[in-house]
Amino acid sequence: MKEKNPGKMVMVDDSGKAGELKPESQRETNVAQSLPKGTATAPSAPGVERRFRQTDLPAHFIERRKNPRISTKQPPVPAPPRFEDYGPIIGKPELDEIRFLARHLRGKTVKMVNSTAVGGGVAEILNRLIPLMNELEVPTRWDVITGGNDFFEVTKGFHNALHGGDYNLTQQIKDIFMAYSEQNRKRMVFDEDLIVIHDPQPVGLVRSKSPKHGKWIWRCHIDLSNPHSAVWEFLKPLVEQYDATVFSTAAFTRQLANPQYLFYPSIDPLSEKNKELPEEYINKVCDDFGIDRSRPVITQISRFDRLKDPVGVVESYKLVKKYVDCQLVLAGGGATDDPEGAVVLQEVMEAAGDDPDVIVLNLPPWSALEINALQRASTVIVQKSLKEGFGLTVTEGLWKEKPVVAGAVGGITSQIVHKLTGVLVHSVEGCAYQIRYLLTHPEFAAQLGKNGKAHAKENFLVTVGLKRWLVLFQILLGMARPNAVL
Ligand code: UDP
Repeated sequence: MKEKNPGKMVMVDDSGKAGELKPESQRETNVAQSLPKGTATAPSAPGVERRFRQTDLPAHFIERRKNPRISTKQPPVPAPPRFEDYGPIIGKPELDEIRFLARHLRGKTVKMVNSTAVGGGVAEILNRLIPLMNELEVPTRWDVITGGNDFFEVTKGFHNALHGGDYNLTQQIKDIFMAYSEQNRKRMVFDEDLIVIHDPQPVGLVRSKSPKHGKWIWRCHIDLSNPHSAVWEFLKPLVEQYDATVFSTAAFTRQLANPQYLFYPSIDPLSEKNKELPEEYINKVCDDFGIDRSRPVITQISRFDRLKDPVGVVESYKLVKKYVDCQLVLAGGGATDDPEGAVVLQEVMEAAGDDPDVIVLNLPPWSALEINALQRASTVIVQKSLKEGFGLTVTEGLWKEKPVVAGAVGGITSQIVHKLTGVLVHSVEGCAYQIRYLLTHPEFAAQLGKNGKAHAKENFLVTVGLKRWLVLFQILLGMARPNAVL
């Protein structure tokens, strides 16, 4: 890639020390403070009439950027893949290994419990994992707890508090939580060999654990590294009744009396979001959104949330754009029904100004294929989060063999080994520096993409998760002894 102005780059390192912009924390505050009151009514991106400055860009690109063709109809849900379908991706020996592990568990029964059947990463993972377990003849049931609005208000408060937010834990709140736990406990039967409880909402079901039958596992998908102490002290005695706990990265755990296991979250390489796509379809999606495939595309796919720092991404792009001709795609969802998302979307629009090469898309929830195509059409994928859970968009980018530039926070640091499977950044300037470097060093970018894909294949696919569950089940049932000397 040719640089527009190779001699004039202000040298910044990836800590961004020499940058001209204000420190991130200050910048965040300033952006928030400069927002006019009442911006919560920001329109959704597709409807916003943006003014673009004069440009050589052909008129059809401008037209699409102003009025992207966003599908308004939910496509039919495809049938879930069969175990065999993963063969071409992971290879027959790997399939055989998983079958071998499952064979020993044949007839053992499993129950998985969470708090929602649709929406959210946990339901997405269970939707893939459970059919595969059943196909491998490990009978697995999926149950969902029920509760009133008061219960889910409490559990939402717990969720935020466990992530370090402020919270006033009253006796009444504790009573609501325990009353619904008891109600669900009475409604459900736990006679399986293995019971897996996902996340804090149903954690209290463990009171049904019997010393005679069944091993109980708590699968925590959230970051517990800095919890609100009163909420954690309330939940901890329940957590410690489990036979084992499972966390998504080592950094998310707490000291506990019971054994802890590390399972990374996973993506499904055969889902609409991640499967291979024909080039014509990718071109069509780019055409629908006005993306010019003859020039580099930098993409961040994220909810419009300040912690994903979309404004920081625009600022990084502006620094890059001084030297390399490129386009920025910011695609996200939820901004129409989430008032905070609408405010952030408005901030993004303001930051993008009249630059026709910043393409902002507010996508509906059924856009998996479009997101897949956008990721595949990208030259560089960015996830400049300031705080993050695991960061599945990073996994998706790695799997698509793309060079990924991402904030060094949360689970992203388990996915990106700096300068080997992607690059980690700490600032707007660092992000700009790395994007520019990747755009001007395509061989290095391609090598990162290859390494990233290998890393994702080894660690973050649904088949890896499946294998880990099968091994853990064997350990807990005493069929495999982790400390045995062979
Ligand atoms: N995603 C989506 N539509 C959007 C934005 C994000 O489907 O408009 C998907 C994205 O592809 C990824 C997930 O939502 O699969 C986001 O997961 P991640 O762990 O990156 O962030 P979270 O939103 O859970 O904080």
